[in-house]
Amino acid sequence: MKILVVGGAGYIGSHMVKKLAKAGNDVITLDNLSYGYRDAVKYGEFVEGDLGDDSVLDSIFKTGDIDAVMHFAGFIQVGESMKKPSMYYHNNVSNTLVLLDAMLRHEVKNFIFSSTAAIFGEPEYTPIDEKHIKQPINPYGHSKLMIEQALDDYDAAYGLRATCLRYFNAAGADPDGELGERHVPETHLIPLILQAASGRREDIKVFGDDYETNDGTCVRDYIHINDLCDAHLLALQKMMKDDQSARYNLGNGKGFSVKQVIDVAKEVSGNDFKVSIEPRRAGDPAVLVADASLAKQALNWQPEFAELKDIVQTAWNWETEFLAKQ
Ligand code: UDP
Repeated sequence: MKILVVGGAGYIGSHMVKKLAKAGNDVITLDNLSYGYRDAVKYGEFVEGDLGDDSVLDSIFKTGDIDAVMHFAGFIQVGESMKKPSMYYHNNVSNTLVLLDAMLRHEVKNFIFSSTAAIFGEPEYTPIDEKHIKQPINPYGHSKLMIEQALDDYDAAYGLRATCLRYFNAAGADPDGELGERHVPETHLIPLILQAASGRREDIKVFGDDYETNDGTCVRDYIHINDLCDAHLLALQKMMKDDQSARYNLGNGKGFSVKQVIDVAKEVSGNDFKVSIEPRRAGDPAVLVADASLAKQALNWQPEFAELKDIVQTAWNWETEFLAKQ
């Protein structure tokens, strides 16, 4: 197959490009490099450009042989979305609609969409399955849910098939050590902890230890990037075989608290580091854990990196390699 990966220079996109290429697919990455890195695209063709730019999209699609599009080029920071909603609605909604309409013009009818657990809002129960009520509590979650809703309508009216994958906490790095997580600014827990473990950062700040959880810190479901990408490939194959849209929650189904992640990082790295307790971060639910049984059953998918220690180990390998290159 020939697949266009939009946002293929970012964290999840770059791992996906590798997975698709290794599975024998032709891959084109489109990325404007606003957050991604050119050197993270190690396979296939690379086009620098914006997903909201019709002329770039037309020039890619007019070759006429693209079978499917995977879209990873979303803005992802909840806090930033509260302060700059316009940025989130423009990129995550308007630009995605430009992409979808370009697909329709060129009769490309298979779409894989990076959605998020943030579409559910404050959990009414946990683990969260696909039926859980969708009530986002921030512009980031709203922007992703709007596209999920648009995709229902595009399917009904235009026959555009879409699979929306609601990620819980994507984590870890390519087990080969070729790729990893490189966000600037970094806001995600595991890379921040590992930067503290390696001495790149003074401490790790824990956002709240007064939640109603076993140790008072927030519980999240960390899913390894490789497992996440496997699920994308299986979801694409199933969607094209069945000619049907789908929605899946993707997580490990296991929750770990911030303190547990810190303990595992100390064990994996062999280093101690300073931990400071800070006030809660706005918009953080106490517990977010996926019920991923639908994805497991429908896609015949099973996360390989079920243990947090193994996930953190791959991220630690990436962190130490990064330091060695400095
Ligand atoms: N977190 C933290 N300190 C940090 C960054 C994150 O305590 O420096 C907590 C955050 O409050 C949440 C969990 O770690 O409970 C995971 O946060 P992250 O930003 O990695 O992912 P999110 O769950 O927001 O998608």
